[in-house]
Amino acid sequence: MSHTLITINDVIKSAKVPLDAGGRKLLHEAFAFADAAHEGQKRRSGEPYVQHCLHTAKILAEIGMDAKTIAAGLLHDAPEDTDVTLEEVEQTFGKEIAWMVDGVTKLGHIRLRGSREEMFIENLRKMFLAMAQDIRVVIVKLADRLHNMRTLDAVPSEKQERIAKETMEVYAQIANRLGISEIKTELEDLAFMYLQPEEYALVRAMYTKEKEEYEKYIDRAIANIAKSLKKEGIKFREIKGRAKSIYSLYVKLQRYDMDISRIYDIVAIRIIVPSIADCYEALGIVHKRYRPMVGRIKDYISLPKPNGYQSIHTTIFGPEGRIIEVQIRTPQMHSEAEFGIAAHWIYKEKSRSSWRNYFFRGTHKERERIEEQRQTRWVQQLREWQKDIASDNEEFMKGLKIDFFKNHIFAFTPKGDIIDLPEESTPIDFAYAIHSEVGDRATGAKVDGKMVSLDHTIRNGQVVEILTTKEHKVPNAKWLEFVRTSSARSHIRRELKRAGEKIAPLPDITKQKARERRSARKDRK
Ligand code: MN
Repeated sequence: MSHTLITINDVIKSAKVPLDAGGRKLLHEAFAFADAAHEGQKRRSGEPYVQHCLHTAKILAEIGMDAKTIAAGLLHDAPEDTDVTLEEVEQTFGKEIAWMVDGVTKLGHIRLRGSREEMFIENLRKMFLAMAQDIRVVIVKLADRLHNMRTLDAVPSEKQERIAKETMEVYAQIANRLGISEIKTELEDLAFMYLQPEEYALVRAMYTKEKEEYEKYIDRAIANIAKSLKKEGIKFREIKGRAKSIYSLYVKLQRYDMDISRIYDIVAIRIIVPSIADCYEALGIVHKRYRPMVGRIKDYISLPKPNGYQSIHTTIFGPEGRIIEVQIRTPQMHSEAEFGIAAHWIYKEKSRSSWRNYFFRGTHKERERIEEQRQTRWVQQLREWQKDIASDNEEFMKGLKIDFFKNHIFAFTPKGDIIDLPEESTPIDFAYAIHSEVGDRATGAKVDGKMVSLDHTIRNGQVVEILTTKEHKVPNAKWLEFVRTSSARSHIRRELKRAGEKIAPLPDITKQKARERRSARKDRK
């Protein structure tokens, strides 16, 4: 376990985005403040409490967060665990940092009450609601949890399991959803170690044995591929082996009867090239050199994964005929893959420096294409939000509280599954989002335990229960008047058609518009 003592200079040195003088000054001040506040307090492991604050801040620095967020990491436990008040934090460091600290404290108030399941739902709900306010609050909370997991050995064993379970089920999920795979992977591995120590030991042993030999082999393959790329004039930035995490290996092993010889990507080769065009060119070169395995080429550049992940994956018969996975991507995709949404602070900061050139290589057109392709809906909204506030500092404060998912809500099933829907969705949209059968058979709905009509507007964070009938049922044509999602709409129409019901034609918008325009013209005359 890592209980290394670090200093504020270690935090500053580990910043992925180099901090300017103002940022460094802020962090020294925040550290001095936290150090004084936590004076005399010790962690369970015996080290000074402020070490936890430093480590949390260091994680935030490493994933490229801005100075204010790192400062919030240093201060995150002060109002909760010391005599310092939130007002004092605000007086010293301003509203923005105080607001983040407050958010992290509130997220921390989740305590075990009621059943496990209730706790789980509550956790997720609070996380998502906080996220809708300011995503940085959640990122600080993830860093806090990561350090707590790294030092979980100091916690009494009866608590370890609960914390590890919550980490696996809530925190790792959220890190994944935000695309911060660096944090997600480590949280999963640590939680796995506490939750299933025997399986963990087994997989780790299998892995260590395979990995050593595998890595030597991979090095040879890398040398060959690098030579081919150079010969064809591809200027790759990096080509190296990347080992799978223990937990993801375990998940995969379960699908392959625990037979490690059937897993081809224990160590994958990762090639980073400047532009998208280079990605496809590099793919061609790799395939020219080594025969690809049929059906294993995955183009996540054209079709990104739901969390925005982009890369090309291919599996080849490498040197000596052994099977290896190769991943090809641009530096920007790489940064996004590791740091997810956090990478956007990196771009924001770097836009003023030469880093821009590092990420945005290629022609203007290509840049636009990358931009367009890579953005998930969330990120797009974040960007718009940043654009709005960039010109106005005062607006920035207000912006912090602007709903991040402006046109987007999260609702929960009674079991705690998250269903995301457009704003103003109804229980019918919710029902179809679960399953078309649930939609068809819906007879009523409860929101937060109370009966509501089926055209009720669901709000962010509500728990929705759909009441259904057992018999097969044709959807109600009236539903078409209020459903919000096109998937529900098209399903209802299809089912009605199949049942031979007459559907009122959709109002002809073009005709209506023309009529409006005509009358407007008349009015002007
Ligand atoms: Mn903490």
